[in-house]
Order: sequence, then structure tokens, then C-alpha cells
Amino acid sequence: MTKFNIFSLIKNSLSYHENWEQHWRSPEPKKEYDIVIVGGGGHGLATAYYLASEFGITNVAVLEKGWIGGGNTGRNTTIIRSNYMWDESAKIYEHSLKLFEGLSQELNYNIMFSQRGVLNLAHNVHDLQEMSRRGTAIKLNGIDTTFLNPEQIKEKVPLINLNGRYPILGGLFQPRAGSARHDAVAWGYARSADKLGVDIIQNCEVQGFDIKNGKVQGVKTTRGNIKTKKVGIVCAGHSSVIADMAGFNLPLETVPLQALVSEPIKPVLDTVVMSNAVHVYLSQSDKGELVIGAGTDEFVSYSQRGSFDVIEHIMPPIIELFPFTSRLRQLRQWGGMTDCTTDRSPIISKTPVDGIMINCGWGTGGFKATAGSGNVFASSLAKGEMHPIAQPFSIDRHYDGYLIDEAAAAGVAH
Ligand SMILES: Cc1cc2nc3c(=O)[nH]c(=O)nc-3n(C[C@H](O)[C@H](O)[C@H](O)COP(=O)(O)OP(=O)(O)OC[C@H]3O[C@@H](n4cnc5c(N)ncnc54)[C@H](O)[C@@H]3O)c2cc1C
Repeated sequence: MTKFNIFSLIKNSLSYHENWEQHWRSPEPKKEYDIVIVGGGGHGLATAYYLASEFGITNVAVLEKGWIGGGNTGRNTTIIRSNYMWDESAKIYEHSLKLFEGLSQELNYNIMFSQRGVLNLAHNVHDLQEMSRRGTAIKLNGIDTTFLNPEQIKEKVPLINLNGRYPILGGLFQPRAGSARHDAVAWGYARSADKLGVDIIQNCEVQGFDIKNGKVQGVKTTRGNIKTKKVGIVCAGHSSVIADMAGFNLPLETVPLQALVSEPIKPVLDTVVMSNAVHVYLSQSDKGELVIGAGTDEFVSYSQRGSFDVIEHIMPPIIELFPFTSRLRQLRQWGGMTDCTTDRSPIISKTPVDGIMINCGWGTGGFKATAGSGNVFASSLAKGEMHPIAQPFSIDRHYDGYLIDEAAAAGVAH
């Protein structure tokens, strides 16, 4: 594999960058694999990479019905943070953040991880109380977080309007949080997994399972049947569709979530600002566009687009908080299908079918977990037992009541 460094850059510049090698192969599916991963998003690719790199299991296929990273991985607003309320969440999101911190070096692929910090705004006394509680819980878990008063916020974000219709009374700031380039994360994992021997098979839709006596024997795909004794399902918005093929139900619903970007402007914002109360957040991309995210649509849908009223709902608060945006044109808008559980925490679990494990339910906030989720899911698949960090996220919690309620704790989950 070509190493990306100054020498390879110079060498390839001599041939006008036309001779870089392909990042990953496009192999024909084999008849049998030790492990099949269904879904070539960031989580599926990360799982395959850690299976090969940490557990030496390389006879692995990632089956993707479209192109890798074309699902929510390539559609999200790329915010990475670990300031979650509950211990179980803190463990997995912090595990992920730590892996992200070394990922560009580990993969030798620039994922453009920018630790520019994430600021959550408080607009009323209730927000302040919630922040005080959450901030204390976060600190008890050893995760960086700091409370900022309105003057400190103004210093950090000079263009913010402190005294509008949504007055700003304070904010919770995580300095190590930030953003990364979403498709670079998918491509970086894909390239490294491929080099370790993993087969990444695109345009290969899983349409059913071969299950005998409650045990998985293989998967049925648009490119033929593939034998395997172990399957990891990592299909985000399509998780319940795939689970149905394997004969079990999932306690989640798929709803659209959308985002939009403005025309590019000069640098105006060097952190991420989120407001749970008004359900918007924004950051500025390297290209200069303001990346704006909203809440979910309130109906179940598999269309990869959101409804217009969500955009109408978020624009007034954005203009209140950042009056300079009132004359900014919006460039484009898109949506993804998010798999939301009632407690807004993921499901990483064994299933009723022996040999099939599932990793889903990341809903509106799973990009930040890509590295950690892939890492603990790989361990679970390799050992046949759930990794300790993954254990609390079993499907069973929806039936025994041990929910990890980040819906109430974090408001906006992204
Ligand atoms: C607008 C938007 C903004 C978001 N913002 C953030 C954010 O700022 N921060 C954050 O942490 N998270 C965010 N998220 C959530 C985040 O994008 C997801 O939780 C995360 O990307 C899920 O990754 P994944 O690999 O599990 O899923 P995906 O990337 O969706 O991958 C699943 C893959 O499975 C494939 N697949 C489905 N069915 C089949 C089949 N039958 N056979 C084969 N393949 C199949 C799909 O084609 C898809 O490529 C956002 C999501 C959206 C939509």
C-alpha cells in the first residue's frame, strides 16, 4: 500500500496525480467467509478493519448494497464529542473519541479530525440546571467539559447574539470535541481493511439469510449465496428491514434527519455551536460553508430526504442566534434515514439467531461513535461474547427496562 507522505506526494505530482494506486480492490465474492459484515458504512468498515488488525481475522467480507459510505456516513454533519450523561454512554463515546485522536496516523489517511470544541447553549434556567447535572456527571467520568458564562461565550464566538429571542445564559463546552471528514473516515478504514485482506464488495445487497435450527449458515445476496457462520449487521436506517429477513423485530423506528449547508464564506466560526432548546446546531466547514443540522421529521420514512417544515422551523432561531446569517444563501440540503431507539442509545447485541450480531440504533448521533463502535463490535464478533463496553447496549434493555436514556439527558443527540 502506498504510504501517504511528502515523498509520495512529490513523486505523484510529477505525473499530475494520475497514477495513485486504487485505494481498495473490487473483488468477486468468495463462496465462504469466516465473518460477513452487512453494511458498508463507517461502522461496518471500522468493524472489518479492527477484526483484521486486532484479531487477525482477515477472511471477512463487507457487503454493501450501494457504494461504501453512501448511507448516513456520507450524509451527516460530522460532529464528534463524548460529553454524554450516563456512564455507559460516556464509556463508548470516549473510547471512540480517543481512537479518533490517533486515527489519521493509525490509518495513514488524513481524516481531517479537527478538535475545535463543541459548545452547548443554555437559554433558560432549566437548561442551566440540566447542564450543571450533566456537566458534573461528565466530569465524574473523567471527560473534559467546562461551563462558560455569557461573556466567555461571546469571546469564543464573537458573532453570536446573546440577547435575542433566545437569550444565552451560559454554555457547556467540550474542548476535545470537534469534527472530522466523514467520507475520509469510511475510505480510510476501507483502504486499511482491504490491505489486510478484507473483501469490500459494493453493489451487493443482502436479501435474506440461510438459517437452520436457529443458527445462521449464510447470506443470500444479489451476487449469489455466501456461506458463513458469523454475521454482523450494521445497516443503520435499514436495520429493522434486515432483522425482519432474519425473523426478529427491533425496538426502533426509522425517521428522516436532514442537514443543509450555506454558500461558502470567510472564516467566522471556529467551534461547533449547538442549541438543544431550539434544536439547531452549526459549524463551519473547511470550504467555508456553514453546516447546519436540525431535528428529525416526526414520521417514519425510508426516503433519504427530509420535509420542508423542518427547515422552516430551524431558520428563525439560526438567524436569532447569528443575525449575520439572515442574508446568507443556502446551497444545498439533504437527508438520511436514522434508526432511533426510544432511549436514543444504540443496540450492540446478540440476536435470537445464533451467529448473528447486530450493531444499530445510533440514530442521529452515531458518526462520532464510528471508531469505538467498530472496535467493540469487532471484539464481540471475534470472541462470540459482547465486549464489556457493549454489554449494556443489548436489545434486552428494551424489555427489562434498563434503558440508557440519553433522549432526556442530551436533548439533541447528534
Ligand atoms: C443529516 C444527518 C446528520 C447527522 N449528524 C451527525 C453528527 O453530527 N454527529 C454524529 O455523531 N452523527 C450524526 N448523524 C448520525 C450518523 O450519520 C449515523 O449514526 C452513522 O453515520 C451511522 O453509520 P453506519 O455505518 O451505522 O450507517 P450507514 O453509513 O448508513 O451505513 C449502513 C450501510 O448499510 C447499507 N445497507 C442497508 N441495507 C443493506 C442490505 N440489504 N445489504 C447490504 N447493505 C445494506 C446501506 O447502503 C449503508 O451504506 C447524522 C445523520 C444524519 C442523517
